[in-house]
Amino acid sequence: MSENAPDSVVAIGAGQAASQLAISLRQGGYAGRIVLIGDEPFLPYSRPPLSKAYFKDGQPERLLLRKQDFYDKNAIEIRTSARVVSIDRDARQIRLAGGEVVDYGHLVLATGARNRVLSIPGADLAGVLMLRGLQDADRMRSLAGSARHVAIIGGGFIGLEAAAVFRAAGLRGTLLEAAGRLMARAVSPQVSDHFLSLHRAAGADIHLQETVRRILPDAGGKVAGVELGCGTIVDADAVLIAAGIVPNDDLARDAGLRIDNGIVTDCFLATSDPAISAIGDCANVQHGPDGPHLRLESVQAAVDQAKNLAARLLGQPEPYRKSAWFWSDQGTAKLQIAGLRHGADRFDTGADPDAGKLIVRSYRGDRLVCVETVNMPAEHMRARRDLESETAPA
Ligand SMILES: Cc1cc2nc3c(=O)[nH]c(=O)nc-3n(C[C@H](O)[C@H](O)[C@H](O)COP(=O)(O)OP(=O)(O)OC[C@H]3O[C@@H](n4cnc5c(N)ncnc54)[C@H](O)[C@@H]3O)c2cc1C
Repeated sequence: MSENAPDSVVAIGAGQAASQLAISLRQGGYAGRIVLIGDEPFLPYSRPPLSKAYFKDGQPERLLLRKQDFYDKNAIEIRTSARVVSIDRDARQIRLAGGEVVDYGHLVLATGARNRVLSIPGADLAGVLMLRGLQDADRMRSLAGSARHVAIIGGGFIGLEAAAVFRAAGLRGTLLEAAGRLMARAVSPQVSDHFLSLHRAAGADIHLQETVRRILPDAGGKVAGVELGCGTIVDADAVLIAAGIVPNDDLARDAGLRIDNGIVTDCFLATSDPAISAIGDCANVQHGPDGPHLRLESVQAAVDQAKNLAARLLGQPEPYRKSAWFWSDQGTAKLQIAGLRHGADRFDTGADPDAGKLIVRSYRGDRLVCVETVNMPAEHMRARRDLESETAPA
């Protein structure tokens, strides 16, 4: 451990990024105190299965990133159900909701993100759900047991994954997306079209360019349906709102750190205060010394940023410039994305419709920037290797 390493590392948030940070610090020989403070009543767990396998199997122990004995053996202190309410940068202390104060040598903001709340009438009715954490997933599972028809607001990854698991459980689903295509923020038009056909062929009722005016109650105050912008009423006894997420950056804002679409960091994951870093969904990270700032919402980014930060705290700083990758499972289709397609001006596409396979390569000028594949895992791995070697320093 470097002699300049902080005597303690305290992380706010005990999710994917914070857990990886603690693991990497101990693996790298860090001997100081490590404390993870999370407001959920669980050890750090994996969120992706919440909209996939967990809906079917309902086994929370399978979600845990590590068991309690791992944290005990590695002297990693985890505080669950503990909410941090403020940061005192001068005193290098944080305050918990109950008034307790914790000192930090280095503070890491790994606070993740929360669901975007829609301000439409009826969004607070019984039977309206949002999915972010394990408790939401349990609510979704139990509601699915009594519901017959779910309206899903939002055709991004979570809305579409949920549509697939609802369908597999025998529920009818109507999906309402305001944009002209599915997953529009993240995937190419070719991939949007592919998934539109796939979900429709499996029986999904999908409406594009459709807004929701309000969620309608029945006489008992439960969801009875949704009224669309065009005036049509869709019957439904449950509603899932999946309208994207916003970064949890309020603590950082209140502490006077630089905020712009999340907590802004340099390419070493440092915020505008060198004693505080930010990683994961809450962080808008510079990719490489001259690179763009990007706030990514993925397991890969949370894990790679945590590893990079651990190395810096152990005295081996390297600019962060990992190439991004992501996956989404929707029914029998595994979508995998390597790279980011922003600014792409040219595409080439290959497909084997009978085998449910698709590949879309996106280029900016001559440079390959993104490869999207459906049910082609070997091509995805190849693309990750190619893109990683392109982002490595010369
Ligand atoms: C249903 C679902 C499916 C997903 N599927 C995929 C997928 O297929 N592929 C993929 O790459 N990614 C997926 N993701 C995204 C992925 O899970 C996130 O990118 C990842 O969890 C980010 O890690 P994080 O540590 O930044 O945030 P989180 O894991 O969200 O952890 C942040 C923690 O901080 C806590 N916190 C916030 N503020 C405070 C505070 N003031 N005090 C104490 N604690 C606080 C939060 O409650 C939370 O527990 C999915 C997410 C969801 C919700």
